[in-house]
Amino acid sequence: MNLALLLTRSARAFPHLPAVALGGRVMHDYATLADRAARLAAGLREGLGLQPGQRVALVMKNCPQYLELLFACWHAGLCAVPINAKLHPRELEFIFQDTEAGACFATADLVEAVSSAQNGATALQHVVDVAGDDYAALLRHAPMAMAATGPADLAWLFYTSGTTGKPKGVMLTHDNLLAAALGYFSDVDAIAPGDAILHAAPMSHGSGLYILPHVAKAACNVVPESGGFDEAEIFDLLRTHRGVTLFAAPTMVKWLVACAERAQPDCANLKTIVYGGGPMYVADCKAAMRVFGCKLAQIYGQGESPMTITAMDKALHADASHPRYEHRLASVGRPFTGIEVCVADAHDAPLPAGEVGEVLVRGATVMAGYLNNPEATAQTLRSGWLHTGDVGFLDEEGFLTLRDRSKDVVISGGSNIYPREVEEVLLRHPGVAEASVVGAPDADWGEIVLAFIVLRPGANTAAAELDALCLEQIARFKRPKRYVFLDALPKNATGKVLKTELRRRL
Ligand code: AMP
Repeated sequence: MNLALLLTRSARAFPHLPAVALGGRVMHDYATLADRAARLAAGLREGLGLQPGQRVALVMKNCPQYLELLFACWHAGLCAVPINAKLHPRELEFIFQDTEAGACFATADLVEAVSSAQNGATALQHVVDVAGDDYAALLRHAPMAMAATGPADLAWLFYTSGTTGKPKGVMLTHDNLLAAALGYFSDVDAIAPGDAILHAAPMSHGSGLYILPHVAKAACNVVPESGGFDEAEIFDLLRTHRGVTLFAAPTMVKWLVACAERAQPDCANLKTIVYGGGPMYVADCKAAMRVFGCKLAQIYGQGESPMTITAMDKALHADASHPRYEHRLASVGRPFTGIEVCVADAHDAPLPAGEVGEVLVRGATVMAGYLNNPEATAQTLRSGWLHTGDVGFLDEEGFLTLRDRSKDVVISGGSNIYPREVEEVLLRHPGVAEASVVGAPDADWGEIVLAFIVLRPGANTAAAELDALCLEQIARFKRPKRYVFLDALPKNATGKVLKTELRRRL
C-alpha cells in the first residue's frame, strides 16, 4: 500500500480539520494538504523529471513543507531521504552520492551547505529552496494520480547517526512504515481527529516518523516557529493547540521538566510525551510524572525497526502500586504487538528470562537492509533476525530491560560492567545533573570505569562523595575509578550522548 493513501483517506473523511500549523497559525486543512501533495508530486515527476523509485533528499530544519514533501514523494512513487539538518557538507555529500538523489529540498538557511556538498554528487540536478519561486512553481502543476507501489518499494532512507563509523542508509519500505504507524495505535497511544503532534524534535528522525499515525487519524502537525526545541515556545503552544503529543529524547524531557518547575505553565492541553531514543533514568521519569502527571509513554526502537521494538504506554507508567513497578520503569516495556523480540547469546541461541544477551527483532517493521552495503546487511540481518547491537534481558512478564549498546559495555578485569547501572546510581545524588560512564583503557585491568559528571548549578559535589554513594549501592568493582567533571556532555542532534566522543577525549 502506498503511504500517501493515509493522507488522501483523512482528507476525504475530515477535509476541514487542521493538518499543518506553524506555531499557533493553521496553514493547511486536510483537503489542502492532500491537494498540495498531489500537485507537488506532479511537480517532482513532470517538472523535475524524476523517475519512479528515485531519491529525493530533504535537508531542512523542521518546517511545514516537510509534510507535503514527504507525502508528495510517496504519492509520486519516489523515495524520501530526510537528512539531519546539522550534518557537515562532507557528510551531506556522502549521502547524496550514496542515494544518487536526483533532487534536494532545503530550507533557506541550508541551501548554501547543500550547494557546497553538490560537487561529487553527479545525479543531483536540482536544489530547491522551499521558500523560493521554484518551489511555488512545482505546486502549480495539476494534481497527479497516486503511483502504485509494491511491497519492496522504498519510502524512506534513514541514515544512522554514525556514532561509530560512516552512516548507513537504512532502507524502509512503505510496508515497514505502515506497520510502524499501526504499532503506534496498538501499543503507544490512541489519537483522535483534531488532536495535535508538536514537532519539536527533528522531523528527519522520530518526530517525522510520527507524522504517519497522526496523519492517519487527521491530527494537526504543529511545527514550532523556531524549527526546533525551545521549552518556553512549547509551553506557549500548549495554550493554542489541544490533545497535544510530543516526541522527545530523554534529555529534552529533562529540559521540559526543569522549565516547567520554574515557570509552572498550564499543561492541560498536553496529552502525551512519548520519549525514547536513549536511556531514561528512573529518577528522571518519576520527576517528569510529578510535573506532568501520567502523560508519559516510552518507545524503544532504532532506524532499522523505526520507533517499534518495545513500548510502555501511559497506563503502565501510571500503575505505581504494581509490585514490580520500579523494575518496569527501568525497562523499555514490552514488544510491540506482532513484533518478535528475543535475547540471544553470541550464537543467536535464545536465552532464558533474566539472562543478558543481544536484543534481536523480527517482524514487519524490520528494514529491507542497508543501501549499497550487502556486507553490513548480511551481518545485521543474519539468521532472519535484526541484530540491534543493544544488550539487555527479558523478564518473566516479557518486559525488556536494556543494559547498553554492546560496544559501550565496560570489561574490567574480565567482568562486564553495564554503564547504565552505574549512571542510575550516580544520578541519585542531588548534586548530579548528568552522568555518563565509559571504559578507559588501563594496563592492569584492560579497562577501568570512568564517570563524566555534569553538576547542577551551584553544586560542588566531590568525587569522594560519589564514590561513597556507589559503595553503598553497587558492587565494589563496578564503581568508577576516576571522575571527570564537565560543563556539558557532548550530544548529537537527537540528544544522544556521544560516548565515542567522550572516549576520544580520554
Ligand atoms: P537510532 O537508530 O539513531 O534511533 O538509535 C537507536 C538506538 O538508540 C537503539 O539501538 C538504542 O541503543 C537507543 N535507544 C532507543 N530507544 C531507547 C530507549 N527507549 N531506551 C534506551 N535506549 C534507547
